[in-house]
Amino acid sequence: MIYFDCASTTKPYDEALDTFVSVSRDHFANASANHTLGNDADSYLTKARNQVARYLSVDPEEVIFDSGASEGNNFAIKGVAYHNHSWADKIITTKGEHPSVLEVFHALEKEGFRVVYIGYDKDGNLDFDALEKELDSKTSLVSVMAVNNEVGYCFDTKKVYAMVHKLSRAVLHVDGTQAIGKLPLDPEYYDLMTFSGHKIGSVKGSGVLVKKKKVQIDPLIDGGGQEFGLRSGTETVPEDCTLATALRLTMKSMPERSENAKKLNDYLRTELSKIEEVVITTPKNGSPFLLNFALLKHKGSVIAEALSSKGVYVSTKSACSAHQPGKSYVLSAAGYDDVISSNSIRLSFSGREDIKQGEQFIGILKSLLCTIKERS
Ligand code: PMP
Repeated sequence: MIYFDCASTTKPYDEALDTFVSVSRDHFANASANHTLGNDADSYLTKARNQVARYLSVDPEEVIFDSGASEGNNFAIKGVAYHNHSWADKIITTKGEHPSVLEVFHALEKEGFRVVYIGYDKDGNLDFDALEKELDSKTSLVSVMAVNNEVGYCFDTKKVYAMVHKLSRAVLHVDGTQAIGKLPLDPEYYDLMTFSGHKIGSVKGSGVLVKKKKVQIDPLIDGGGQEFGLRSGTETVPEDCTLATALRLTMKSMPERSENAKKLNDYLRTELSKIEEVVITTPKNGSPFLLNFALLKHKGSVIAEALSSKGVYVSTKSACSAHQPGKSYVLSAAGYDDVISSNSIRLSFSGREDIKQGEQFIGILKSLLCTIKERS
C-alpha cells in the first residue's frame, strides 16, 4: 500500500492509541465530578492541557479542547464576529480557505456581516495591497490558513499579523491544521489558532483552539461551562490526553520528518515534471508535505480511482470538498484554467514514507497512463 493522503487523515501512533485505551479504561470518571475519581480524571485533563501548551509555547489557559478544526474554525470566527458585532461588522479571509472557514463566512454574510475574500497568486503570495485597503476600524477578524490543504501554499501569516495589528483593532485567526507538526508556527504571530488531532496521529474527534488571553470570544456551545466557560460538554479526557501524546510525538519528529518529506517531494516533483501532460501546481516554496499536480489529458478523479485499485491512495482536491464534484476553487482562485482546476491530484505525506514508495508511485502512474493511452 502507498498512502499519500496524510492531509486527509493520518494513521494514529500506537502510543497515542495506548493512551486512549488506558485513559478511557482507567480514568473514565467525569472530570467535573466532585469526587476522587472525578479529581483523578481532571488531573489527567490538566496534564494534557499543560503538555499541549508546552508543545505549542502558549499558556495552559489558552488551550481549549474541542472536537477538531471544523469546530475550532466555526468557534473562532463566529466567536469573534458575534462578540464584537456592536462595533465591527467586517470580517476578512482568503479565497483559498477550507470549507469550515469559507462556509462560516458565507453564513455570516447572510446575517449581515460585510465579508471580504483576499486573493493570491500561483506562488501563494497573498494580495497584501487588497488586505491593506480592506482593513479598517470596523474590522474585527481576519482568518488566514498557515498552509493550504489542497495545494500546500504557505501563506505569510506573519506579515498578515503585522498588517492586521498595525492597521486595525482586528485579531488574526490562523487555521493551523496542515501546519502543526510540519512547519514551525510561532504563537507570537496569531491571536487564535485551530487544528485537528487526527491530522497529527491522534484520534478523530479531537482538536484544539488556542485563544490568546487578550482575545474575547462568545462560546459556540452553551451548557455546563466547561473549558473556561467557552466550550460546554463533558470534558473528553481520553481524546485530549491522546492528542497530547500525538502532539509530543509529532513535534519531536518534526525535523526528521520534514527532511524526509522534502526529499520525497523533490524526487516526485522532478519525476512528475518529466511526464509531458503533468502541470505541477504546488509552488517550490510550498509545504514539503504536499504536492499537487494536474493531468492535462485525463480526469484527476479517474486517475485517482485507478491508482486506488492498485493500492495507491491519493486525493483529488481535498477529502472535504471531494463530494462537491467539479473544479478546485483553490486552484481557480490562483488563476488556473478549468482543465487544470478540474484534474488535479493531491499527494500528501507524513514524512515517514520511504523514497522507494515514491519510485513505485511514479512507476504505477506511468504504466497507468500508458495503458489508458493504448486503450484510447
Ligand atoms: N482546515 C484545514 C486546513 C483542513 O485541512 C481540514 C481538514 N481537511 C480542516 C480545517 C477540518 O478538519 P476536520 O475535518 O478534522 O474538522
